[in-house]
Amino acid sequence: MKTRDDALARDAADPLRGLKAQFDLPPGMIYLDGNSLGVLPKTTAARVQEVITQEWGRDLIKAWNTADWMHLPERVGDKIARLVGAAPGELVVADSTSLNLYKVLAAALEIVKTDAPQRRLIVSERSNFPTDLYIAESLCRQHGFTLKLVDGVDEIPAALNAELAVLMLTEVNYRSGYKHDMKALTAAAHAAGALTVWDLAHSAGAVPVDLKGANADFAIGCGYKYLNGGPGAPAFVWVHPRHADRFWQPLSGWMGHAAPFQFTPDYRPAPGVRRYVCGTPSVIATSALECGVDTVLAAEPLGGMVALREKSLALTEAFAALAEARCAELGIYVVSPREPAQRGSQVCLALKAPLQEAGYAVVQALIARGVIGDYRAGDPARLDAMPHILRFGFTPLYIGFTEVWDAVEHLHQVLASGEWREARFNQKAAVT
Ligand SMILES: *Cc1c(COP(=O)(O)O)cnc(C)c1O
Repeated sequence: MKTRDDALARDAADPLRGLKAQFDLPPGMIYLDGNSLGVLPKTTAARVQEVITQEWGRDLIKAWNTADWMHLPERVGDKIARLVGAAPGELVVADSTSLNLYKVLAAALEIVKTDAPQRRLIVSERSNFPTDLYIAESLCRQHGFTLKLVDGVDEIPAALNAELAVLMLTEVNYRSGYKHDMKALTAAAHAAGALTVWDLAHSAGAVPVDLKGANADFAIGCGYKYLNGGPGAPAFVWVHPRHADRFWQPLSGWMGHAAPFQFTPDYRPAPGVRRYVCGTPSVIATSALECGVDTVLAAEPLGGMVALREKSLALTEAFAALAEARCAELGIYVVSPREPAQRGSQVCLALKAPLQEAGYAVVQALIARGVIGDYRAGDPARLDAMPHILRFGFTPLYIGFTEVWDAVEHLHQVLASGEWREARFNQKAAVT
């Protein structure tokens, strides 16, 4: 891609270009943050309105049966299952990603305590999303396990040993965009006698996932990123059928009971993954999530996740190559892997000395120009290993090559002009 016309030509030839019409994107905005909060689908407002005015407003309590609210967790779960290589009935929508991680990690620890009680380590990455580490920390305190953090993929093989209970990874790292090899790591963890918990927050709807093919044990994921479910959308949880009936999950609420409307005083878990639903499903939010999931499923006749992945890799490669070609002399370097198999659907950039602290202001200046990315602070003690990053997500459903071109043009202008130095771009807001 040497010129803007090249970018326009690639968009014109893109078989997925029509999918963008599904979204209500603000005019003129280049939205490269679908990995934080997906875009509003055009169907969502009307669907939510219908749920509120018709199902809730007119049908009231009857809607649990007439609109089948009771099975929303499975209905929307079955749709997500198609995107992550799970079978119908294996995946439910419920609660938040953090809560679902709590449930599956606790269940995994129960299995280990029964089958291999000498194993006491949970291994994860230091750069994993903090909530995952915090939840693991709490479970370690409760169950007498230890959380061991590795600094990158090279240290993982040595951690797969006789002490390992659970390997807990986010398939696509939220900072670097590094994509782990789920199948190989799961096989290696199993060979070492351990279980795996995979967080698909940056995978579901972004990259093809094959949970059954990878023989994973547990997985969870997020509804409001690439699934376009809306802020705080419910999350999902998948459990391999070989584990689903073995243990209670720790949040044994009535909606995961085998017969909630018998109102028995004792808990009897529903068979399969339904027991991972705790309380009453969030009906309005789950209905909005369904609209978002449908925008991804709309790609199925066009090649589905495989076609989306192909476009995503072309977008991220084009962005990384352009950013390097045009902005390297202004201090920019690419942090995300250039090897396609190791890259999710995002590209992270960082700035070299003496500009290594400028990332936040550069992102603010880009946002003021309508190019929406985000900033993630690094580790001040080890900026070489964990730099401050400028993070850009590329959702192939609604991002095209012209936006890639224009985003790099803006980045070039922000750096070349020194515009980012303005005071208004250097004030930190609560959410970056
Ligand atoms: C976004 C994200 C979450 C979000 O968790 P919430 O409970 O929805 O706040 C969790 N884990 C990872 C890896 C994420 O990227």
